[in-house]
Parts: sequence; C-alpha cells; structure tokens
Amino acid sequence: MVTIEKLLKDGIEIVKERDYNNPFLDVQLILCHLLSKDRVYLHLNRKEEVEEKTAERFYEMAEKRNQGYPLQYMTNSQEFMGIDFYVQEGILVPRPDTETLVEKVIKIVNTTEMKDRYLRILDIGTGSGAIAVSLAYYLKNACVTAMDISKEAIETAAVNIEKNNMKNVTTLEGDIFTHAFSDEKFDIVVSNPPYIKKETIGELPLEVSVYEPKLALDGGEDGLEYYRQIVKVFGEIHTKTAVLAVETGHDQALDVNEIFSKSGLFRKIETDKDLGGNDRVVTGFL
Ligand code: GLN
Repeated sequence: MVTIEKLLKDGIEIVKERDYNNPFLDVQLILCHLLSKDRVYLHLNRKEEVEEKTAERFYEMAEKRNQGYPLQYMTNSQEFMGIDFYVQEGILVPRPDTETLVEKVIKIVNTTEMKDRYLRILDIGTGSGAIAVSLAYYLKNACVTAMDISKEAIETAAVNIEKNNMKNVTTLEGDIFTHAFSDEKFDIVVSNPPYIKKETIGELPLEVSVYEPKLALDGGEDGLEYYRQIVKVFGEIHTKTAVLAVETGHDQALDVNEIFSKSGLFRKIETDKDLGGNDRVVTGFL
C-alpha cells in the first residue's frame, strides 16, 4: 500500500511540465477525483494509505495526463461561472475566456430594459451547454435554447441541464448552415463558434489539437466562416431590439467587427477584452 504523499510525489515525476499543464495541481486533482475528496483532504491526510486498485488507476491516469490527455476528460468535470459542468470526450472543455461572453450578456440584460421582461436566448454551438446553462442560471427571466450539430454535445448539454435542474433551457440538434428556424424569434443570440483557421489547428497545444473535437475548433480557411453564417441567421431570427454576442479568437475582433458592420444590421458594435487583456467578445446591438 502507498500513501497519499508517495502517490503525489510519484505523480509529479510522471507528469512532466509542459506549456499546457501544472503537474503538481494535475496530480492532486487526479487523486482528489479517485478518492472523492478535496485538495485540503490530501494535505491533511498525507500519511493515509491508498488502496492498491486506486493507486494503479492513479498511475495510469498520470501517464495519460503526461501524454496530453485533458484532465477534465478524466475527471468529467469543469467549473464554469461557478457551476460544475459534466464534460467528456467529444465536446470542447469550457474555457475561462468564455466567461467574458457570459458576463457581457448578463451585464447587458441587467443594465437595460431587458432586465424586466421575458427573454428568449439562442446559444449556437452549445457544446457542454456551459454558456446556455450559466445564462439560464443567472438570468431567471430567460428561456434558453441550446443548439448544436453534434449529438454528443446535445447529450452532454442535456446532462448539464438536468444536473443543474434548469427548467428554462431546452436543446436543439441542428446545423446552423441548414437549420430552418420556425417563426420563433430571439432577443439574444450568443455563440462561441469554432474559430481556429483550419491549417493552424495542428499548432495548438497537444491537449487541444489531438484530444478536443475538431468540429468545435475548425472555423474554415480563414477561421471566420461561422461568424458570417451566424450574422446571416441572426438577421432572420432576431426580435426588434435584439443583441448578438460572440466569442472571437484573440486576433479576430477586427474581422468580426467588419462582418457585423457589413451586414448593416447593427446600430452599435462593441468589443470586450478577456481577463488576459485580449479582445474576446464582439457584441452587436440593433
Ligand atoms: N478557445 C479555444 C482554443 O483556442 C478555441 C475554441 C473555439 O474555436 N471556439 O483552444
């Protein structure tokens, strides 16, 4: 039998430091997951012995992590906007950058007349449902449609809707390039679409390029294909005073501003930065 202390020590030998990880934190989180305990527990119980089977599993997972496999797919969880999301292979892991988008929308609603009325929100390319569920959680006057082309994404979003007991989110499986929306109109459309240029996907960290779904990353030749389509669809499904807010790559805000402005739909377009100081969210107001 090995102790918690020994496992953590062995773990950081296995998980080498790369540009995308923090070995000490990673191995703690793997062990927390296996023992169903928090990190404080590990610190306070360093001498506790761990069952053989659990230790074996720990070494396997540390090895896998060293190969770049995302930690969140192992633990099946990622916190986003203070909510715990179930994540699994086949869907993009929610990123802190995307919280900028959610916070922007919450702020718009809470500081305008949108605050006091019923709102219909559409989230295009919902993935795990992180954006849709957190908006629904923080905006009780909203009814959110979580749309994705991927069946796995829709299933994962459904798990997160259920897990968080969200009565005001529904899923919609469909392709934004072909889906025929009925007469339903939306007050807010949000999206974190795939925005990586096709040929640069291979340059992303191993974790992302190898293990995360291409479908959620590939934005076509110039990385902007989805923005053009989203603006086009928005033109058909918006209510009178609607808002379109999208996440962009750090160097795409100008291009996306141009797509928004060329559509002639918006009276005002804003760009917001993420916590790292990069342009991250473009919002158009009717
Ligand atoms: N933020 C992701 C990354 O750069 C990309 C997600 C996306 O294409 N929307 O790893």
